Parts: sequence; structure tokens; C-alpha cells
Amino acid sequence: MNNQKTIPYAKKRFGQNFLVDQSVLQRIMTSLAIKPQDFVFEIGPGRGALTKLLIADCDHLYAIELDRDLIEVLNNKFDRKSLTLFSGDVLKFNFEELEIKTENKIRVIGNLPYNISTELLFRLIPSKHLIKDLHFMLQKEVVDRLAANPGNKKYGRLTVLMQYYFDIAPLFNIDPNSFSPKPKVDSSFVRLSPKIKHEVELKNYQNFKNLVSTAFQFRRKTLRNALKSLFTEKELVHFGCDPKLRPENLSVSDYVNLSNKIK
Ligand code: SAM
Repeated sequence: MNNQKTIPYAKKRFGQNFLVDQSVLQRIMTSLAIKPQDFVFEIGPGRGALTKLLIADCDHLYAIELDRDLIEVLNNKFDRKSLTLFSGDVLKFNFEELEIKTENKIRVIGNLPYNISTELLFRLIPSKHLIKDLHFMLQKEVVDRLAANPGNKKYGRLTVLMQYYFDIAPLFNIDPNSFSPKPKVDSSFVRLSPKIKHEVELKNYQNFKNLVSTAFQFRRKTLRNALKSLFTEKELVHFGCDPKLRPENLSVSDYVNLSNKIK
């Protein structure tokens, strides 16, 4: 009888592009510099290429995987003493649940399925107080947007909301040939560290989110037109904001200042 388990084929609907290049995996581990006592949480361990290296460096690893076929593979591969594996969707995962198990802040790591990456980034904002840092492999396009400066075409809603809460450090790019199957897009590895101090303190996240979303919905319009539903031209001038500028010309602090004026 053949006892050998077959590895499930890669599923497109789960964004499965497995990392197969050992030199990239090593480069990721060097950037992470994991200490044994770190509280490490991996999103989408897949077939366990990165998981294996993480388990070697930390006392215990936590991970979440959506694909039940891969849960089986991972449970066969790794000892439960070194890995706590959650079966489910990270977009529904409550990171508060992890807090009770440790006084350490969480180091979240993942070669993310590209179809959920921006939604996941936004969902991590409310959990930022639990997070030490985030290290993600993302579509290069998304990393460019995260790290963009005002005036850049890639500067937008994702940039402003994430840059208010996190320092963004793009680390290196990864060639599509490092994955199997090969993705159609280039990838980048990025570190996001929660900001300890802000230039301007935000009063209300919902107002900030609403303002930034409204502005970038009409990014080619002037602020006078794009923000018509929130401020009159006179109010914009009064709040120190030139109504003739475009949404991409305001800095993160400009958006915070403006959103603090919303009643
Ligand atoms: N970490 C592995 C690697 O680097 O080879 C796999 C990376 S693959 C790009 C993304 C992984 O995330 C897959 O294993 C996929 O099944 C899993 N995944 C997809 N959607 C998910 C979700 N919503 N929650 C948790 N895991 C998810």
C-alpha cells in the first residue's frame, strides 16, 4: 500500500503561489531576525515552506490557513507542540483572542494571497495596539501604493490610511520565478511598524476614513469639487487648505487636520 500523501494542487481561488526559492526564504528570515520568545503569527502557511523556518527560530508559532486540504498537510508535517494552527479565514480572525496568551506584541508574517491583501491591511488597523510589526509579501503595485509620497500617482486612500498608523519600509522585490505557480505580477516584501507618535493626533477614525475615501473617489478633481459634500470652498480656505489643489497634493497630516474639523 502506498502511504505517501499527495500534495494538493495549487488553488487559484485561494491565491496560492507557493514560495519555492530557498534564497528568497532565507532573505525573508534575515529581515525578520526572529528571537525565540517572539510571538509569531503566520497568515496562509500553505505547504509550510516559510513555516518550517519560522518554527526553527521561535519557541512556538501560530498560523491561520483557509484551505482545509493544506491544514491536513501542515498537521502531518508539524508537531502541535511547535505550531498552533487555526483553520479559517484571516479576514474573520479576531486578533484580540491572541492577546490573552502572551504579553508580547504579535509579529504578523505572510506571503499573502493577493486578492485579500488590501482588505486585510485595512482590517489590521483596529488591532494595531496588539502588533509589534507586520511583514508581508505583496503585489509590488500595493507596496508602491503603501510607500508613495504626496504628488505621486500611486498616492491614494491606502497610502494615507496606512501611513497614518504605520511606518512603511519596502525591503526587497521578488521575481515571479521564485513562486510555483508563477504569478503574473511582481512581488515585494514590506515591513509595517505601528507608529508610536503621530505628527498630528487624529480625533475620529470614521471621519478620517470618510474624508480620505471621498477625496480619492474623485482624484482628478480639485479639492473644491472633490470635497464638496464635506466642506464649502470658504471652509477649506479657512482651514488652511488650497481648494485648487488635487487630493494627491495633501500630506497625511493635512488629511488628519482637515478630518479633525469635521463635526
Ligand atoms: N506561505 C506559503 C508560501 O509562501 O509558500 C503560501 C503562500 S500563498 C500566496 C497564500 C496562502 O494563504 C495559501 O496557502 C492560501 O490557501 C492561504 N489563504 C488564502 N486566503 C486565505 C484567508 N482568507 N485566510 C487565511 N489563509 C488564506
